[in-house]
Amino acid sequence: MENKFERCKNYILGHRALVEKGFEILQPLLKDYLSDAEMELLKSNIKVHDESKFSSDEFFARVNYYHGEKSEENLKKLKSAEEKHKTTNPHHPEYWAAKNEEMPRVYIVEMVLDMWTFGLRDNNPREIFDFYEKNKDEMPLLGSSRKELERVLKMVDVAIDEETHQKSKNKVHKPCENV
Ligand SMILES: [Zn+2]
Repeated sequence: MENKFERCKNYILGHRALVEKGFEILQPLLKDYLSDAEMELLKSNIKVHDESKFSSDEFFARVNYYHGEKSEENLKKLKSAEEKHKTTNPHHPEYWAAKNEEMPRVYIVEMVLDMWTFGLRDNNPREIFDFYEKNKDEMPLLGSSRKELERVLKMVDVAIDEETHQKSKNKVHKPCENV
C-alpha cells in the first residue's frame, strides 16, 4: 500500500512525465522556434520540472492538504507554498513579473507544457485552450510574452491536429481492399 508521502511523490513524478510526453509531441514544431542552446536548456529543465515541490515546505503543505485534512489552516499553508512555488520557479509568469521582465521563450514553452498536462492526462488534449481562456487574465505576462505564449499554443493546436490525423490514418488498414 502506498502511503500519503509516496502518493504525493508519485503525483509529482506523474505530472513531470506528462510534461515530458507533451514535449515529445511538440518537439518537431519547436525546432524552428528555439535555438539549439534553448532546446538543450528546455530538455534539462523538463527533467527536473517542479523539483521544488520536493522541498520540505512545498512537499508537506501538499501532503497535508491533498492527502490529509482539507482544513482552513492546511489550505492556507498550501496557498502560501504555491505562491512561493510560482515566484521561485521560472516556468511561472509570476517569477518574471516580480522581476519586471519578459518571460524567455524557453520558459514560455515549459509553462505551456505544464498547462497541457491536465488535458493529456484526461485524454482531452484540447482542454488546454479552455484552460487558457479561463485563466489568461490572471497571468501576469509582460511585453511580448503573451504574444509568444499564444504562438506556442498555436503550435500545440497544430501538433494535436497532426496527431489526430496520424491516428486516423493508422486506423485505415489496406483501404483499397474493400473497394
Ligand atoms: Zn510549476
